Amino acid sequence: MAPPLTLTIHRAAHEIGGNCIELALGAERILLDMGRPLTAPKDARGLLPASLDTQRPATILISHPHQDHYGLLEEAPPTWLVRCGEPTRRLMQITMAITGRAFSHTTTSWRSGETFSIGPFQITPLLTDHSAFDAHMLLIEAAGKRLLYSGDFRMHGRKRVLVERMMRTPPPDIDILLMEGTNLDSDKPCVTEDDLEERFRDLFARTKGRVFVAWSAQNVDRTVTLYRACLKAGRTLVVDLYTAEIMAALAEFGRLPAPDWRQVKVVMTRGLRRRADNAFADGLVRSGQAIGATALQHAAEPLVIMTRGSLLRDYAAKGVTANADDAWCWSQWNGYLREPDGAFVAQWFNDAGAAADHIHTSGHASPSDLRAFAGAIAPKYLAPIHGVKWDDEQPGFPPILRLRDGETHTVAP
Ligand SMILES: [Zn+2]
Ligand SMILES: [Zn+2]
Repeated sequence: MAPPLTLTIHRAAHEIGGNCIELALGAERILLDMGRPLTAPKDARGLLPASLDTQRPATILISHPHQDHYGLLEEAPPTWLVRCGEPTRRLMQITMAITGRAFSHTTTSWRSGETFSIGPFQITPLLTDHSAFDAHMLLIEAAGKRLLYSGDFRMHGRKRVLVERMMRTPPPDIDILLMEGTNLDSDKPCVTEDDLEERFRDLFARTKGRVFVAWSAQNVDRTVTLYRACLKAGRTLVVDLYTAEIMAALAEFGRLPAPDWRQVKVVMTRGLRRRADNAFADGLVRSGQAIGATALQHAAEPLVIMTRGSLLRDYAAKGVTANADDAWCWSQWNGYLREPDGAFVAQWFNDAGAAADHIHTSGHASPSDLRAFAGAIAPKYLAPIHGVKWDDEQPGFPPILRLRDGETHTVAP
C-alpha cells in the first residue's frame, strides 16, 4: 500500500509569522519555511516547534527573506537541505552576517516558474508581490494532490500584476490552498506604492530642511519608492551600509537603485562599519559614495536620510541634531512606534520640533483582496495560516480546513 500524503502546520496556524509547515510522503519530507515567531524575545533560542521531528531528513523551502519565514534556519539540523530563490539566499546571508549569525546549510536556488522535484514532490515556485524582495508562492504536487502555498503576498505593490495574472489563469484543480490572513479584520492602509511615491514627493517638496525616514532595508519596493520621489523632488537619498549592501547584492536582479547611482549616498556609521563587508565599504569610500554622519548636519544638498534608533544614536554621537525645519516620517507599521525603538525615534524628533508624518502601505493583502484571491483559486479547501482572525472571518472564503499547530492531516490516503 502506498504511504499517505500528510500535512502538518507545526507553527503559524494561529499566529502571524513563524511559518513551519510540513508535507510528508513516506520517507520524504519538505518544510515550507522555517520562520522565527514574531513574538520571540530577541536572543531566545530553542524555538523549533515541539511537534517537528528533527531526527529525520528534510528539505526546507524558504518562500521569502523575512525573519518570520527563515529566522530559525540556524536551529535546524545542519544536514537538512535548503532551497530558495537566489536573491533570497543572498539577502539571508547579508542579514545574518550583519546580525552576527551564520547558516551553513547546503542551499540550492530555484527559478520562478521552473518545476523541480524533491523525491515524490513536484514543486513550482511562483514569484509574487510582497514587501520582501523575491517572495514566492509554491505550487506542490504529490500523490495526485495539488496544494498552493501563498507565502506572504499582497495585490497593491510594484509586482501586483503577477498576482492579477495568476487570478486570471489560476493553477487548476487545487485541493488545498494554504493562505496567509495577516490583514483580516484590520484597517491597515493598502494603497499602492505609486500613491506613496506621490505623497513622499509632496513631503520632500514642502519640507525646508532634511527629511528623516524610517523604513525597512529589506523592503526593496519602499527603497525604490523613496528613490523615485527623491529624483522628482531633487533630493539625495542617504541609506545606511546595510541597505547599500542589499541594493548592491540585488543589482543584477532588476533595475534597482544601487549605491553608485546618482543622488544616492551611503552613510558610514560606527555600528554597521564594524560588521559590514570590508571590501564593499572600502569601495564606497574610494568611489566617493560614502559620507560620514557629520556631513548629515552641514550638507549643502537637500537630503532624505534613513533613520532608526541605532542609526540615530550613531548620528547623534557625531553631532547630528534635528530642528524645526526638518521632517521625519515613519514608513513602517505604526504599531512599531509603541515599541522601545520606535518610541525613541519619535521622541528624538518630537523634542526637536520636527514635523511628523506616517506614509506607509501594508506588505500584505487587504481582507477583500484575500477573499478575491481565494475565490479565483477556488480550492477544495482553504487551510488558514499566518493570521489571528481566521476564526472570526470565515464568510466569503472557500470551505475551511482548520488545523491546529502540530495537528497532522491526511491529504491523500
Ligand atoms: Zn510573514
Ligand atoms: Zn513576509
